[in-house]
Amino acid sequence: MNTEHPTRKSLRIVVMGAGMAGILAALRLREAGRHTVVVYEKADRIGGTWRENTYPGLACDVPAHAYTYSFAPNAEWSSYLAPGPEIQRYFESIVQSHQLESLIRFGEEITRCEFVDGQWRIETARGTHDRADIVIAATGVLHHPSMPAIAGLDSFAGPHFHSARWDHSVPLDGRRIGVIGCGSTGVQIVSALAGRASNLVHIQRTPQWIMPTPNDPYTEEQKAAFRADPALIDAVRYNEEYTSAVRRFTSAIIDKESPEIHEIEAVVLKNLEDSVRDPVLREKLRPDYRAACKRLIFSSDYYQKVQRPDVEVAIGPIAQIEPAGVRMADGAFHALDILVLATGFRADRFVRPMRVLGRNGADIDAAWTPAPSAYLGITVPGFPNFFMLNGPTGPVGNFSLIDIAERQWGYIEQLIADLESGKGRLVDLKAETMRDYDQRRIAAARGTIFGSGCKSWYLDANGVPSSWPWSYDAFAEQTARPRAGDYEYIH
Ligand code: NAP
Repeated sequence: MNTEHPTRKSLRIVVMGAGMAGILAALRLREAGRHTVVVYEKADRIGGTWRENTYPGLACDVPAHAYTYSFAPNAEWSSYLAPGPEIQRYFESIVQSHQLESLIRFGEEITRCEFVDGQWRIETARGTHDRADIVIAATGVLHHPSMPAIAGLDSFAGPHFHSARWDHSVPLDGRRIGVIGCGSTGVQIVSALAGRASNLVHIQRTPQWIMPTPNDPYTEEQKAAFRADPALIDAVRYNEEYTSAVRRFTSAIIDKESPEIHEIEAVVLKNLEDSVRDPVLREKLRPDYRAACKRLIFSSDYYQKVQRPDVEVAIGPIAQIEPAGVRMADGAFHALDILVLATGFRADRFVRPMRVLGRNGADIDAAWTPAPSAYLGITVPGFPNFFMLNGPTGPVGNFSLIDIAERQWGYIEQLIADLESGKGRLVDLKAETMRDYDQRRIAAARGTIFGSGCKSWYLDANGVPSSWPWSYDAFAEQTARPRAGDYEYIH
């Protein structure tokens, strides 16, 4: 019995998903030691986005020491930006060292989650039934591949696959490879395949602004120093240059006339002008919308790679895909052996396609039509004791989503503590809190750089940027503790 909190009771908590955020929740709950915790994971391994994405060149463009749990620094990162497989191994090591594996039920995809008689009833595709006092939805942001509606796609004779479904049985060296899409994924793939393919064609409907970024490997001496003195890791993670860059970046995003956005515009423009020698290629690669309107792309070598003689950039819409290659709308034809679809994700899904039914039959699908939203990316009215990590409208710019999830977890922990201490059996966001949040959020979001006239996955079905539209500090402050009056406590 917990002597410090004699009124605290043990709750049954179901965590959905064993990716970065689900592991965080499971780990924190296991540490608290008071609850029964079950993690449902649809796949047979942990890792979320780092398990699903295995494409060549996969890396995280957030500095490795910042894309790390604050409580589990990692002296072993091989470079300033960590490669994807290393990040997957990091999460696996956390699961192992904290003995979380026993909490996770693999191969169990939750299909239905319904609030009945004060509890959540869970159903999985395998027919497992469970119940929970609290649900933590850690189902990720970008995990449902968006397949492009391009005429003739299925007629392509060679291997073709989405970037998040990479077919590793397909040999790449010496082949003619086409990559459709130039978001962060397409750019990383093209940079990695240049020099391996006999001919690489990067097909871009809309070119992107590229922010140059260093990516130096850490030397063995540096790693030894990190091991010996974790304060040195903090010095990288909380480095003034990086943290002020994050703050400047949010200032740039939220005010499209700020000096900070003009600074970013100048850097990416200079990168294009200085890096691309051929004026024809330079004009092809010049976006016609403002920098950071689409998620800014960080790359140390993309412009160098596309200037290789074996790499071609094809700009404009695709007319159709034919058995032997891709036909552009301007008539140009690119003969290909392999076609990669780096065409992004259905960013409005979140917990869906799972059926989530809350109080009085409230359906998350209806609540999220036309566009999903959640207070601070965490709670939705009518869905008591249902807490999201990295849910809709949380910050998803070029930030560490680990940091965002940790802040949200700190907030959720306090709501759970309220339930344990008997403040209520259920905690439900008030409808007026949500309404007020959405009114303010939407008004602010329209003024952000994301709403400055380009198309991107940030925009919801109403064309409103769905990302957190205020500063990083405002997010930190508002998630520091639940505000009195925002929630209804039900006995
Ligand atoms: P994305 O940014 O949504 O880019 C999708 C690309 O596919 C765009 O260039 C888009 O063109 C193109 N496309 C879609 N449908 C098309 C069609 N029918 N015909 C031609 N082109 C089409 O997707 P992503 O690159 O996978 O990145 C998604 C997000 O994942 C990123 O923004 C980032 O948040 C995250 N990510 C992060 C990292 C990292 O290092 N941290 C790495 C990879 C991904 P349009 O622009 O014309 O629509």
